[in-house]
Amino acid sequence: MRGAVTSTTSRLADAGLPGARALGATLDQIAAEVAGSRFLVGDRFVNADPASPMSGNPAAALGDMLRRPGRPTRRIMVSTPDFIGGARDLAVTWLGHATALVEVDGVRILTDPVFSRRCSPSQLVGPARMHPMPCDIDDLPPIDVVLISHDHYDHLDMASVVGLSRSQPAAVFVCPIGVGAHLRAWGIPAESIRTAQWHDEVVVGATRFVPVPARHFSGRGLDRDSTMWAGWAVLGPRHRAYFSGDTGFSESYDDVGAAYGPFQLTLVAIGAYDPLWPDIHVNPEEALTIHRMLTRGTDALLVPIHWGTFNLARHTWGEPAARLSHAAQGSPGQAPVDIVIPQPGGEFDVIGRTGTAIVAPDWWKESA
Ligand SMILES: [Zn+2]
Repeated sequence: MRGAVTSTTSRLADAGLPGARALGATLDQIAAEVAGSRFLVGDRFVNADPASPMSGNPAAALGDMLRRPGRPTRRIMVSTPDFIGGARDLAVTWLGHATALVEVDGVRILTDPVFSRRCSPSQLVGPARMHPMPCDIDDLPPIDVVLISHDHYDHLDMASVVGLSRSQPAAVFVCPIGVGAHLRAWGIPAESIRTAQWHDEVVVGATRFVPVPARHFSGRGLDRDSTMWAGWAVLGPRHRAYFSGDTGFSESYDDVGAAYGPFQLTLVAIGAYDPLWPDIHVNPEEALTIHRMLTRGTDALLVPIHWGTFNLARHTWGEPAARLSHAAQGSPGQAPVDIVIPQPGGEFDVIGRTGTAIVAPDWWKESA
């Protein structure tokens, strides 16, 4: 996938097509934003747990991808969210992939918004969505914070960011350092952008947003790891939620749970894992382990993200949900974990334990 994206973006840049703008900031603009970071090694960010070398046969993997095992067998159930009423104490609406509307103590947070048809620098090539977006940008209720995990195309979409900036002028864009340079390059007003590095924080109103190290990488073009990648601890006055972004497994989540938890709600990526890149994306069982580390034995809810919308690995469409559902039931020595798997557009009130997400809890089995 990486090679395909890189060659596409460089072709666009060479041709001077509009898609080149989606590449974002120049290396100089990024360097100015990250200058002096205590996490830079040279001019790059690095994982505390380095990824092990790729194993297996990349050529065979490409063949597997082209055979498209990751498509749903039937049309995916999608619900249109109504967004009626005020922001709640703890609730989540999953809009597909890593895009979710999270409500924490009356604050509305939109994570990694991707409303475009493709997660790519071009709307002509690249992974296309397998279900329509449950709503348009203009249908969203007032958003307080747009929260970005990292600058990969399936998490940071230029058209969505620009559209949100126009339709939600009061929203604050909160992102790891380096990513802010992309937003400024796209014309987002500097006063609407707040950045932080791992373990520092951005405070918006009464809510603290703390980026923590994810085990991943970054980059939108030929360069790599010049911007920071992160998961986010969202610390409201009364409730705490965690948004994983993209990550491989790391024991460091135990420290995150100790420092910022326990969280009552976690949104953890469960899809796009592959034996070829075991340390870049967790599988469903590892996602559950991370949830346990973050919630420390408390009664908390896991809502899976990063699956079902874009086909980015070789697993089948329904495998992440099936493996998560099975593993969440627990085993001897492992307590069960409370999960809700919303359909795109499905919402769930974590306090009241109600919502459209549990009207047809087995919805995904129809398309698996
Ligand atoms: Zn991703």
